[in-house]
Amino acid sequence: MRTRLLLLAAIALVALAPVLPGVPPFWITLLSNIGLASLVTLGLVLLTGVGGLTSFGQAAFCGFAAYTSALLTTRYGFSPWLTLPIALSVTAFAAVVIGLITVRLSGHYLPLGTIAWGISIFYLFGRIEMLGRHDGLSGIPPLSILGMSLIDPKAIYYVIWFFVFAGSIATLNLLDSRMGRAIRALRGGRVAAESFGIDTARLKLIVFVYAAVLAGLSGWLYAHYQRTVNPTPFGLNAGIEYLFMAVLGGAGYVWGAIAGAFVVTLLKDVLQRVTPLIFGELAQVDSIVFGALLVLCLQFAPRGVWAFIRRLAPANSAPDIADAPALPKRDIAATGDALLSVEAIRKQFGGLVAVNDVSFGVKSGEIVALIGPNGAGKSTTFNLISGVARPTSGQVRFAGRDVSSASAQDVARLGMARTFQHVKLLPEMSVLENVALGAHLRGHAGVFQSLARLDRADEAKLLAEARRQIERVGLAEHMHKPAGSLALGQQRIVEITRALCLDPRLLLLDEPAAGLRHFEKQQLARLLGQLRTEGMSILLVEHDMGFVMDLTDHIVVLDFGSKIAEGKPEAIRQNPAVLEAYLGGVA
Ligand code: ADP
Ligand code: MG
Repeated sequence: MRTRLLLLAAIALVALAPVLPGVPPFWITLLSNIGLASLVTLGLVLLTGVGGLTSFGQAAFCGFAAYTSALLTTRYGFSPWLTLPIALSVTAFAAVVIGLITVRLSGHYLPLGTIAWGISIFYLFGRIEMLGRHDGLSGIPPLSILGMSLIDPKAIYYVIWFFVFAGSIATLNLLDSRMGRAIRALRGGRVAAESFGIDTARLKLIVFVYAAVLAGLSGWLYAHYQRTVNPTPFGLNAGIEYLFMAVLGGAGYVWGAIAGAFVVTLLKDVLQRVTPLIFGELAQVDSIVFGALLVLCLQFAPRGVWAFIRRLAPANSAPDIADAPALPKRDIAATGDALLSVEAIRKQFGGLVAVNDVSFGVKSGEIVALIGPNGAGKSTTFNLISGVARPTSGQVRFAGRDVSSASAQDVARLGMARTFQHVKLLPEMSVLENVALGAHLRGHAGVFQSLARLDRADEAKLLAEARRQIERVGLAEHMHKPAGSLALGQQRIVEITRALCLDPRLLLLDEPAAGLRHFEKQQLARLLGQLRTEGMSILLVEHDMGFVMDLTDHIVVLDFGSKIAEGKPEAIRQNPAVLEAYLGGVA
């Protein structure tokens, strides 16, 4: 409620600024510039702040749209509004091409890649004859509405801020949706996101293009506001400034984009006025002071301006989850049918044979345990089964299909859900949202539906399903807490709950009882037993022998990558090879 009031206040302020008596015209110019920068920064909030993909090259995308519109209006007589969809399409196309190469880069290579193409495109703009080389293009017509030319700075000011608010609201809508959750999950790493069926490569490209289109919108507005374009505002310097705005505003918060654009633009303007008074006409002192101040800001407010403001007006409390019709469920195979069969799978890491021609199976409605000493190859076997890694040789069949070379997403789609030895939750997201991620594949709303808020029915079903699963495992009271605030045992249950949301045929649990206290283990065992009663099949890796013995139907023992025994728990307990390798080793 308070955030909505703040928003209304902000809109009112922006709406009134030009008509308030005594507001000097340069304020309007400054606010228009802030609006233009906010649009670019908004894209960066999603790309960098939320998705974790750092880009220094956003200014180049402003350039694509600005030059497209400049060229079409000055050379070919297009009307400015007609060039809007064309300019955005050109920008989106450029973003797809550049993005296909860039977003595959990881670590430091990604920002370096954006610097590289940011520079190249800047020089490209300056070299092309048709784009007027370094002089650029001028004589661009202003926008007009209903025959009224928006040549007055106050008029275009409203157009700019209309787009800023529309862009902000669309971005908020996107973040608060199935796709938005998936974008936020990118931060948790590729392996976890793909294990619940998110196509991370495609999603990164979508975010990249979205950010580019927002930058393009800013560039298009800029062209018809300045009415002249040249390469300078689309270079690397501008790209760096936009990134600063996003980080300073509080990368990750939509309103932080505007806050960051505001602070940085204002600071630059003030410094340009003030430094000559102090330092005389010494060239570019303002840039030096500007840089120093930014470093200080990052040092003392690393979470940005918006994090401060948010503390003053806390975010809305727990969201309402509407009752929604249940999601359709998969048909579960008859108990006793072969569900998973692993045939002579092998994994070599260089000279090390981590998994050595291992075969076993899981039948529907069974709990099977994979046990063995540390380094026996259990987690690697899990990765081979769940599509995270490819076997060097051998075959994995799941639900009647050969999935030996299927991707993690494909395996998830077939109904295999997993947890991780080291819990992979998104600590700052609520338990509910973490769990809802598990239902990603059972929703259908895409980016466009989410932007326009046409995804509510779909979203309600996903959240209702997440809530149902959370209640089922007894974590209802923690539903709206950040997942990272829960105890480890509870976090492990949250991961299992997230896996249950996928409506799996088979649950793969990697050391679900590790780090749990005794009574937590009992709770977990009860939960798994109950799931089996409901027809679920489970394959788990475990260290705790007592836990495994009481719970499982069948045990497979690995040692140094090879299977040394399998059978019923009682038989395994007395198997000399197992006692020697595993129990003996531990005792
Ligand atoms: P477990 O889960 O049974 O403790 P792992 O499957 O994690 O064992 O590891 C089995 C062996 O494979 C270990 O010797 C480990 O060091 C090695 N290993 C696992 N993953 C990799 C990898 N990505 N690259 C190289 N060696 C690996
Ligand atoms: Mg392991």
